[in-house]
Amino acid sequence: MIRPVIAGNWKMNKTVAEAVDFAVRLRTAYSTPPDREVIIAPPFTALQAVADTIRGSFILLAAQNLHEEEKGAYTGEISGKMLREAGCNCVIIGHSERRTLFTESDDRINRKLRAALTAGLRPIFCIGESLRQREEGETEAVIEHQLKEGLNNLTANDIESCVVAYEPVWAIGTGKTASPEQAEKVHRFIREWIVRRYGPKNGAELAILYGGSVTPKNIAELMAQPDINGALVGGASLDVDSFIQLVGC
Ligand code: PEP
Repeated sequence: MIRPVIAGNWKMNKTVAEAVDFAVRLRTAYSTPPDREVIIAPPFTALQAVADTIRGSFILLAAQNLHEEEKGAYTGEISGKMLREAGCNCVIIGHSERRTLFTESDDRINRKLRAALTAGLRPIFCIGESLRQREEGETEAVIEHQLKEGLNNLTANDIESCVVAYEPVWAIGTGKTASPEQAEKVHRFIREWIVRRYGPKNGAELAILYGGSVTPKNIAELMAQPDINGALVGGASLDVDSFIQLVGC
């Protein structure tokens, strides 16, 4: 049985004070931990303060990016080791904004995945097709390519530590959600690919999250699909009451 995962990607939002306030409110909203994994991904500047706030609680901390090298002359970058030191458990890798706005290639994403695993971070590996690719019937080919390249040289053991997030690019921040059936079809495709590549155990145990305009209104029907094990949420994760509703779906 896969434990559902609800992850909030705050992107470039929230000051340290706002992030800590959110974390305090999230932590104190529960007298017993929810029956799912709850992950928040603040900007780098707020990681340490949020880590201090959630220490000992059920909340897990993710970074939104990392550099693939452990240290060196990479001005402006942050390594997996530094993220671990700041209290992170997870890291988002391959988000479509990184792929498009920051031209991250599949090869680079693969190196980042390996760096995250080496640092002891759980990668949340994002994949998804653009609107043009979907309209031209290329969705499965794109997903397969991103899986094959992104997971290159990763072992079954590595996959056990990964979460995959299917995020159709046309649904991110647009208010257009994939229908539960559209999302389920791709999730099923991803799981079957993992089964073919890594075997039934890895396939059955992999948490595959859906992302793309998820809100408290539409999360339940998405999560009702057999291969949707949670959600990676952008906009609707910024308000703590909305995020609590998502966690409680
Ligand atoms: C995201 O950025 O990962 C995302 C899914 O954003 P939104 O929920 O705002 O579409």
